[in-house]
Amino acid sequence: MTPRHHHHGGPLSHAGTGPHPSTLAVTAGRPAHNPGSPVNVPVYLNSIFLPGNGAEYGRVENPTWLAFEDAVGALEGGTAVSFASGMAAVAAAIEMLPVGGVVVAPSDCYHGVRLLLADLAERRRIETRLVDISDVRATLDRCVGADLLWIESPTNPLMKVADISVLSKDAHALGVEVAVDNTLATPLLQRPLELGADLAVHSVTKLLGGHSDLLMGVAVVRDQELADHLRQRRALHGGTPGLMEAFLALRGLRTLHLRVQHASASAAELARRLGRHPGVHRVRYPQLAASSAALDLAVSGETGGTLLSFEVAGGAEEADAVCAATQLIVHGTSLGGVETLIDRRGRWPLEKETPPSLLRLSVGCEYVEDLWQDIDQALTTAVPRR
Ligand SMILES: *Cc1c(COP(=O)(O)O)cnc(C)c1O
Repeated sequence: MTPRHHHHGGPLSHAGTGPHPSTLAVTAGRPAHNPGSPVNVPVYLNSIFLPGNGAEYGRVENPTWLAFEDAVGALEGGTAVSFASGMAAVAAAIEMLPVGGVVVAPSDCYHGVRLLLADLAERRRIETRLVDISDVRATLDRCVGADLLWIESPTNPLMKVADISVLSKDAHALGVEVAVDNTLATPLLQRPLELGADLAVHSVTKLLGGHSDLLMGVAVVRDQELADHLRQRRALHGGTPGLMEAFLALRGLRTLHLRVQHASASAAELARRLGRHPGVHRVRYPQLAASSAALDLAVSGETGGTLLSFEVAGGAEEADAVCAATQLIVHGTSLGGVETLIDRRGRWPLEKETPPSLLRLSVGCEYVEDLWQDIDQALTTAVPRR
């Protein structure tokens, strides 16, 4: 190992040659080092560009998007195409299926994706088969005759982990393409393209942006023809990212490694303590797939990302009371920002598989002892000792 492989307390790892992902997060997508060049690619607030050098119209291309795409592409190991939201990226990927195409997807994948698949199935555009993505054999059984395997790993809030390498290899043998929603893991903990997937998507809104101040999405592929297809979907459907959003997303991405490292360490510590708390019935905090390019610490059991779920001893009422009793931690939906968020997922109509007392904790960048103090006092207030 070269010195740059050594990390102290962080979840990042690095298998390849070239700069470490932490360095790429900081350096990729910068203007060339020329005298007088700006250090950051500016916000190009332009809908038109003069002929002679690339696209002339802003729905097709913008240098501010390209800077963000360069950085994400470097981190995921592919070509990135950015979109107006995570759902716009997902929709562009799904849209490439032929009419009547068959998608195999996790029964507990992101609810927006489930709604989209259900909507398309209802209109006979595609056929959808829902599976337990942690069950390799059952998933592959359902892949026979399918066109696309849609993986999300880990899922949330149930925290199911898929074996992306095995699923990709065996799905490909069946002629099925593989896409991975990598929003939760980020390319620092899991790189789906290296594990054999054809496409990775992100809700940039979450960890890549990281500050709960924008909506954006991105799809990343190795195949250039596939990248062209995605750009074509974007130009035809108009699901283009805003320019301020692209600028802010890249600014957020610059500290992705620091945020993921800090929040993962805190999440692991909180998961351990919650597991011993009398007000808690069960904790879900997965190790990311051991087969993943993920990383020294993930594999050695030190970290499993920035998100965890726990079931409060009691029911929905006690769990709601915990959310109401937190003072530092914000009660709200979404995940991946610098601020720690708590939410009872069972309150959402589509979370039918979710236990009623389950709380999802998206761990942010506050000091871990302050977070623990808040959770502990909220549990003590809300869950009566039995
Ligand atoms: C939020 C989210 C999406 C959708 O992204 P938007 O940016 O909200 O459109 C997709 N997948 C996962 C896992 C998400 O958390």
